[in-house]
Amino acid sequence: MDAGPLRSPLLGLALAAALAALGASGVAAVKASLPLLGRSVTLDPGHGGIDSGARVAGVEEARLNLALARAAASLLAADGAQVVLTRNSSAVRPRLDERPRLADATDGFVSIHVDSAATLARGSQVFVGPHPRPSSVRLGEFLRRRLYAVTHVLRPLNRTSSLAVLRRARGAAVLVEVGFLSHPVERRLLLTRGYRARIARAIYLGVRDYLAGLDASAREGAEMGPAALRWVILASEGEGRR
Ligand SMILES: [Zn+2]
Repeated sequence: MDAGPLRSPLLGLALAAALAALGASGVAAVKASLPLLGRSVTLDPGHGGIDSGARVAGVEEARLNLALARAAASLLAADGAQVVLTRNSSAVRPRLDERPRLADATDGFVSIHVDSAATLARGSQVFVGPHPRPSSVRLGEFLRRRLYAVTHVLRPLNRTSSLAVLRRARGAAVLVEVGFLSHPVERRLLLTRGYRARIARAIYLGVRDYLAGLDASAREGAEMGPAALRWVILASEGEGRR
């Protein structure tokens, strides 16, 4: 006979009593421990499939993007947010027009990339579209500040019309370049688990700042119910470039 803890009649009674005693203050406590309950975000690990993104000294951007997105997603889900990933595999490459479309049902869209340049540029950069809505600027500013705290390179929020993934987004949408694979020191850092964890945490904090400030009436997705980490994997492989 299985005498596991939840089958013990005494413990079962204790559990029932504890649940009954939860009441309003208990529900408030649960909400306090899940501050992002009812809020949602789409994280987009750039590239994927045959498109490795930047590739320097054998290091592929697409894999780093995925690792960072997964880590940030876990932290957000632990706060009760619903997280949609545009891909959760190295093998797939969602089309550029499909990625932001997934964000239509969530409160924001963050495309995650690592840059490369012919110069010794380093540090993070955050991009919004050419005529960003205020929500995109807010999301971008939060991410810019949180990433700056790790990378220590201060750049203004960058407006650009050249990123298809931002042009097609309907809601708050930003693209972050968390560093430069072409910079030897930064590349070495990005290959360490500890530095990636700090970058992922900065992305988490930036998104959290934004989601926590959303007015309940102003956001969609509030009806999504209890938090569940929803991994959305697009099986299609498109011809997107970025
Ligand atoms: Zn990229």
